[in-house]
Amino acid sequence: MTPRKLSIRVLGPYGGSAPGCRMTTFLIDGETALDAGALTEALTLPAQRRLQRVVLTHAHLDHVASLPFLVENIYGRGRPLEIAAPPAVLATLRRHVFNDLVWPDFSRLPSPSRPTVRYRPLVAGRPFRAGGITLVPLPVDHLVPAFGYLVSRPGRAVLFSGDTMPTRRIWAHARRAPDLKAVFLEVSFSDEQAEVARASCHLTPRLLPAELEKLPPRVPVYLYHAKPPSLARIRREIDALGISRLRLLETEESFRF
Ligand SMILES: [Zn+2]
Ligand SMILES: [Zn+2]
Repeated sequence: MTPRKLSIRVLGPYGGSAPGCRMTTFLIDGETALDAGALTEALTLPAQRRLQRVVLTHAHLDHVASLPFLVENIYGRGRPLEIAAPPAVLATLRRHVFNDLVWPDFSRLPSPSRPTVRYRPLVAGRPFRAGGITLVPLPVDHLVPAFGYLVSRPGRAVLFSGDTMPTRRIWAHARRAPDLKAVFLEVSFSDEQAEVARASCHLTPRLLPAELEKLPPRVPVYLYHAKPPSLARIRREIDALGISRLRLLETEESFRF
């Protein structure tokens, strides 16, 4: 029997919202979302109800914006949606979003014993099994506690950087990962906005070659998380780098690794 592939659907490749730009969201094997910037825009209601879990890189709005509406849409389905992330990320979400002020606390609704949402705290560096896949949260360097993820099933792995400035630990992990098929890497601002990028702990095209040096050679690198006003300029700057393994992701691209 050939091993099952890893399917990745790019529901939202952007780090901000504008017509035609959905915020950061990936769908893995149809049942696990990585980040939740645009789940309710991208998925039909039946597809939303089929989601088993949402795994979060961090709690910034462009990564969690659709969660409140997703939870409302699946209310009453009879099995909780798992929201998985390291404790600092979950704590922010519970304190500042699902706090009965901004939005109801769905971990107690319709009742505490049969909730709509169940929080699953993850330990950085420790693999956890989710359906047929394994995810490892790996710390990156951002304004708030933030994590990339190594996602794998036997014989295949991909790495998501999450939001980060130049970083190290996640790349050390990538170099040790057997069967790494692709890296999904953030690039948020154009080089013209290097100052803003530095202040907000993000990458610009000029910073990418040094990050690629830390990665295994030849693995394709798919770029995402462009801020919509920077997109056209980022595209030109990436082209100008002339690095063949770099490519900007488009909405609704699908991969099978
Ligand atoms: Zn972001
Ligand atoms: Zn962020």
